[in-house]
Amino acid sequence: MPELPEVEVSRRGIAPHLESQVIKQVIVRDARLRWPVPETLQQLTGATITQVERRAKYLIIHTTQGYAIVHLGMSGKVRVIPTDTIVVKHDHVDLELGSGWSLRFNDPRRFGCWLFSEEHPSLDHPLLRELGPEPLTDDFHLDYLFNASRGRSQSVKTFIMDNHVVVGVGNIYANESLFKAGINPKRAAGRISKARYAKLVPIIKQTLARAIEQGGTTLQDFTQADGQPGYFKQELMVYGRGGKLCMQCSGRLKEIRLGQRSTVYCPSCQR
Ligand SMILES: [Zn+2]
Repeated sequence: MPELPEVEVSRRGIAPHLESQVIKQVIVRDARLRWPVPETLQQLTGATITQVERRAKYLIIHTTQGYAIVHLGMSGKVRVIPTDTIVVKHDHVDLELGSGWSLRFNDPRRFGCWLFSEEHPSLDHPLLRELGPEPLTDDFHLDYLFNASRGRSQSVKTFIMDNHVVVGVGNIYANESLFKAGINPKRAAGRISKARYAKLVPIIKQTLARAIEQGGTTLQDFTQADGQPGYFKQELMVYGRGGKLCMQCSGRLKEIRLGQRSTVYCPSCQR
């Protein structure tokens, strides 16, 4: 599943090819995505793309005639290809651009979405209005996270993965960040001291920023037909390493389920 860093790298990959382009045609080959692709998406025909923004894991394509809200779901990818490139299975949506290139959306599992909004969706769109702050902005800081955690009995891992608290801290990044901060993922969010959150906040930012950076350097060309951002190769300390030895203390890593998600931690290093 594409996580925030993959979506951000996708945004950086496609934005230069989209911005200031006219949308000549909106082609929907199969509208049966997570939600049906609305007829109103056709309102983008003739519009000029002004910006490609990311909010949480949504790509928001700003145009002079409204906004497309795109989510990659479980298996979606976007790439920019010459318009005459042969259509393959699961190529559900195209934005044909004035440049002779198209933005093409492929999604085998169809959990992604393409929606239309006349207004900028951040404030009032049901999918976006209740999202917490972006982790890499100044809105996500120690006082904010500490205050949000007070009175919460849920585990700290579930807490930081809650999109209402902060967006984009997926399972990999939650596991890795808690390990680096030395915090046991099972600990109740409301009972962790401010000093420990002071350690965790910058670690979450670094972990995500580093993944974006690595994605940027190992970036498959978004203009290649086979370009597909997958999980970025990165040095994972705990994620996927349940039962193996801790890289810090050589003790055995433990794997449990928390909020239905695989959770790996070191019982000695994480208290
Ligand atoms: Zn350890």
